[in-house]
Amino acid sequence: TGPQLEAHGVNVEFITRGGQVARALDGVDLRVGAGEIVALVGESGSGKTTVARTMLGLERPASGRIVFDGEPLSYSTRALRRLRRRVQMVLQDPAGALNPRQTVYESVAEGLRLHGIVAKDPERRTEAELVAAAMSSAGLRPPEALFLRYPHELSGGQRQRVLIAGALALGPELLVADEPVSSLDASIRGEILALLLRLREELGLGVLVVTHDLGLAWNIADRIAVMYLGRIVEAGPTEEVLQAPQHPYTQALLSVVPEMEELRPVVLTGEIPDPTRIPGGCRFHPRCPALQDGTAAAEGVDDRCREQPLEILPDDTVGHHVACHLARLRNSTGPRTSPESR
Ligand code: SF4
Repeated sequence: TGPQLEAHGVNVEFITRGGQVARALDGVDLRVGAGEIVALVGESGSGKTTVARTMLGLERPASGRIVFDGEPLSYSTRALRRLRRRVQMVLQDPAGALNPRQTVYESVAEGLRLHGIVAKDPERRTEAELVAAAMSSAGLRPPEALFLRYPHELSGGQRQRVLIAGALALGPELLVADEPVSSLDASIRGEILALLLRLREELGLGVLVVTHDLGLAWNIADRIAVMYLGRIVEAGPTEEVLQAPQHPYTQALLSVVPEMEELRPVVLTGEIPDPTRIPGGCRFHPRCPALQDGTAAAEGVDDRCREQPLEILPDDTVGHHVACHLARLRNSTGPRTSPESR
């Protein structure tokens, strides 16, 4: 057992340039426990990065709360410092996360210095020993050979490992990884995912992976939460959600994952609306393939789709939950014939 990071009914709002209040997150419940890998999935604009930032204390919710290790986050400087040491963010390298003028050693040591970790080390290791240990854990071996290298002298995979080493140097209990492999090529991508799995195994780390890629979630996550326009629309154990997705949005995202080539691709029309213009009824209804192809009408839920909002999903860590009138109807009446099998 270890600490758990939780979001409870989190709403995040911002004011647009035109002075309107936009709700970027609407009632988000999510938790990541020790030794658990949770994937938060959605297109860009779904709010997934805002969830990650809020869970790290970088955004403050308008209402709802973030709870870490059983205590609601107070947003005092001290509480935020403690959270940021124990829960580390791993950024993706192409976002310019590494300083091009800093050596690998300096990059990994930066957080150690900021948090005064060397003085607190129970084993009285030196800074160089702590840097080397973090780099070894991140698979950069032998670490000393890379100490004085600059980012441009490293491969993409090595740069991503340096970012992971910088996070591990602080001895975190949880990692939040934002698109950790999206820019890497296939073989390196597999290596970084294997590294995250190994860190969970060896250090008991919990990991929240934020990604647009359901294939990635399928490969490493225990649980998955799918976001659309600031809400979690489907959540549950990865196998259940991805082998039997119930929300038309999850089904569409899954149908274009290369590993799922037996599925007929569903191309979503339009873009995610901006959060100042959240559609009434089900917020996915203007883009929903089941509404567009007449399935929802055939089953008599199309009016509900357009008019009746869906309630917020609970996050109980075991169940498979879905926010969709059609899925609810089907679950309550048993399986129906799908248009593909007719
Ligand atoms: Fe589509 Fe209706 Fe389900 Fe929304 S509630 S996802 S519009 S079928």
